[in-house]
This record gives sequence, C-alpha cells and structure tokens, in this order.
Amino acid sequence: MKSLMKTGDNITIKSLEEIKILSDAGKILADIINALKSSLKAGITTKGIDQQAEQLIHQYNVQPAFKGYRGFPACACVSVNEQVVHGIPSQRVIRDGDIVSLDVGIIHRNYYADTAVTVPVGTIPSSWQNLLDVTYASLYKGIEQARVDQHLSDISHAIQRYVEDNHLSIVRDFVGHGIGRHLHEEPEIPNFGEPHQGPLLKAGMVFAIEPMVNLGTWHTRILEDGWTVVTQDGKPSAHFEHTIAITENGARILT
Ligand code: MG
Repeated sequence: MKSLMKTGDNITIKSLEEIKILSDAGKILADIINALKSSLKAGITTKGIDQQAEQLIHQYNVQPAFKGYRGFPACACVSVNEQVVHGIPSQRVIRDGDIVSLDVGIIHRNYYADTAVTVPVGTIPSSWQNLLDVTYASLYKGIEQARVDQHLSDISHAIQRYVEDNHLSIVRDFVGHGIGRHLHEEPEIPNFGEPHQGPLLKAGMVFAIEPMVNLGTWHTRILEDGWTVVTQDGKPSAHFEHTIAITENGARILT
C-alpha cells in the first residue's frame, strides 16, 4: 500500500465546470445502478448482471471504467455473501437469501464516477440485514465529515467508530479514493483511523467513499483468480460507495 496522505499536495481541486461533468456522470451512474438493483432476482447469474450493466452503459453512451482496468474482465464487480469486493461475474446463480454487492464505474466526457450498493435477494437473516443497514449508514457518517476545513481522517474515523459501535468490523485492506480524470486519484481514504489527521479538506475535492464492513473478522484474502476478495472467516460482507464533491456548503453526493 502507498504511504498515506502525507501532505495532500496531490489532491486535485476540480473546477465548477469539472464538477458539472462529474455530476452528470454521477447521475447516469445512479440510474444504471438503480436499474441493476431493480432487476436483481434469484435465478440470474452474476454474468447476467454484468451483461445488463454493459447494455446500460452502452445505452447511456458512456464507457465502462472497470473493464480492462488492470485486466479486470467486466463492467461490474459482483460480490456475493462472503465476497467483499472485486467479484468477477461468472455463471454463479444468485439464490434467495444471498446479498449481492454491485460496484460499477463509468467514464463520461473523460471523467469517472464510481458507486456501489449491497442488495438483499429474497429473505435474509436479521443479522445480515443489520450488516447492510450499518454499512449504508456508515457511508453517510463518513460523508457528513467531508466538509471544508475538516481533516481527511475525520471521514475515516467517523466510519470506523459507527461500524464498531454497532459491533461489526471494518475492512482495512481496501480503501476509498480521490476520483476525477482518473478512477483512482489521491488521496487514499481509509475507513478507519484516528481523527484530525492528514490534509485539510477543500471545496472542489471529489472523493469515492466506500466502507466495506464484515459480520465477523475484518481480515480478508484474495482468491486464486487474483481479484475476488473474500472474508477470511467466510462470514458475509457489505459495501456501499458514493462519489461526492466537497462544496462550500458541505458534501454533495454525485451518484
Ligand atoms: Mg471505488
């Protein structure tokens, strides 16, 4: 992992014009992810979900951000149950009782947007529903801290504290990131850490904030496919992500 946020000098500040493009990208991506959510049902394969994502990306006349990124073979990461992130779409069939994380990125007019949701299929145990609810709420706890003159790690700390107060564990091995002309820009945004550390936040910074939360241990491992991240103990994991812009009036959710 890169050394974290020494100065913040390399965090790009986007102009209002750039934020308009990023906002347009975010709106399109929100439509795409909502369409994928509403057609997610038991019986579909994870590859089938990716094919829908590819069709939607084509219909909206944007480009996939993940396909071909470091060799990733699909438009969507589809991660089921104990899979944390970076699941490769396959012939795996979604079943009643699964939770499915959908992570999609697009490029619109040379700017990137990135978002993720975890969706329950059919009936899931209440402990799994709580995992989804806490992960979703933790994203908003982080977003609340994305304000001018807060420190970067105030986002990280708010997410960790909320998750751990709810007796769940926050993944350490993968982090959020700056986003704009590139999918992954500085800074890295861990979902854990002490408050009041790292660079001061400024209007015009655009971040992808993305807590990954586990029901059991926070430790993860990568499968032999080189991509799929799973929990070490096989217990389920959830992931929610928004691309946000910091404005003088607080964070604006773009996706
Ligand atoms: Mg991301």
